Amino acid sequence: MLLTKYLTPELRKELEGIVTPNGVTIELIERSGMMNPDAKIGLYAGDAESYQPDYFGRLFDPVIAEYHGFGPDDKHVSDLDPTHLKDVGNLDPAGEMIISTRIRVARNSAGFAFTPAISKEDRLVVEKNLVDALNSLTGDLKGTYHSLESMDEETRKRLVEEHFLFRDDDKHVEDAGIYRDWPSGRGVFLSEDRKFGVWVSEEDHRIFSLEQGADVYSVFDRLSRGALALEEQVPFARHDRYGVLTSCPTNVGTGMRASVMIKVPNISKDEKAFKELCLSMGLQARGMHGEHSESGEGGIYDVSNKQRLGKSEVELIQGLVDGVKKLMEMERNASTMAASA
Ligand code: ADP
Ligand code: MG
Repeated sequence: MLLTKYLTPELRKELEGIVTPNGVTIELIERSGMMNPDAKIGLYAGDAESYQPDYFGRLFDPVIAEYHGFGPDDKHVSDLDPTHLKDVGNLDPAGEMIISTRIRVARNSAGFAFTPAISKEDRLVVEKNLVDALNSLTGDLKGTYHSLESMDEETRKRLVEEHFLFRDDDKHVEDAGIYRDWPSGRGVFLSEDRKFGVWVSEEDHRIFSLEQGADVYSVFDRLSRGALALEEQVPFARHDRYGVLTSCPTNVGTGMRASVMIKVPNISKDEKAFKELCLSMGLQARGMHGEHSESGEGGIYDVSNKQRLGKSEVELIQGLVDGVKKLMEMERNASTMAASA
C-alpha cells in the first residue's frame, strides 16, 4: 500500500498535530488505508489544502509521483477540445462488441472541504450551488435534479441498475468518511435524454456523459460542454501542478475515466490474462457494474484509461480508442479461431 510505504513513522510524527482550515488531520487521511489492508493507495484528501506543502503535501507528493509516474518538475496540462481527437468516428458502427461509452470527470467545489471531511451544513450549500448551476443548463444538457433523500427505493434501484446512479457500499470509501450523513446533500442530475448527468457529492462530484454505442467524439463533446458550462458558475478545486484535485489521489489531474462497455468473450476467457493485457496497454478492465464488480454474462467488461494525470484528456481518450481498436481486432481473430477449431 502506498500509504504505508510513504508514511514512515518519522513522517507520521512530523504530520501529527497539523490541521487544515477545514479540520483535516493525518488521522482522517490515513483512516481508510489503516482499516483496509488490501488498499493499493490507502489515503484520501479532506480538502484542497491537504495536497499543499504546508499541510500534507509531503505525503501526497511521493504517492502521486509513484502512482502516476509524475515527477516534481512535471506540470499537468488539460485539453477538453474534442476536435483534437484523431480517427474517432464510431469505433464499432456495426454494434458488434461495444455496448455503451461513458466519460466522467471528477470535480470538487472550490472553497469547501472534500467529501471525507465536509460538514452536513456545508454539503447542503455545495449541493444548492451546484444544482442552481445545473438548472441553468440549456439545450441537450437541460435536465432535472433527483435528490437522493427524497427518492423512493424502487427508483433508486432502477437508476443504479441502469448505470445512472452511484451506490453506498464501497468499504474503502465508507471508511474514508465519505458516507457520513447519507443520503443528505447527494443526488443525481440527468439531462432529458439521459446522456448527460452529474452525481452530486459522491466521492467527488462526477460529471458524466453516457450513451449507447461507440461514438466517442459525441460523448466527449457533450461531457466537455457540460463540464465547462458548470465551471463558469461553480469554481472547482485545482492545484497549480496537479490540475484537478480529488478526494482520492488516483483521480487527480484530469479526474477523467473514459470507458467502453465491451463484450469480448473470447479474449477474456482467462480473466486474469485479459486484465493484464489491458494494463499493458494502459487500460483498466472493471466488471459490468463498476469498480470491484464481476464481469457481465458473456465476457462484458468496462474498459477505461488507467492514467489520469500527466496526459491531457484528449491524449487519454486517444489511448483508449487505440487500445480498444486493438482489443476488438484480437477478439475478432480469437472468435474466428474458436469457430474453425
Ligand atoms: P467511476 O467511479 O469512474 O464513476 P464506477 O466504476 O464507480 O466508476 O462506475 C460507475 C457506474 O458507471 C457503474 O454503474 C458502471 O457500470 C457505469 N459505467 C462505467 N462505464 C460505463 C460504460 N461505458 N457504459 C455504461 N455504464 C458504464
Ligand atoms: Mg466509483
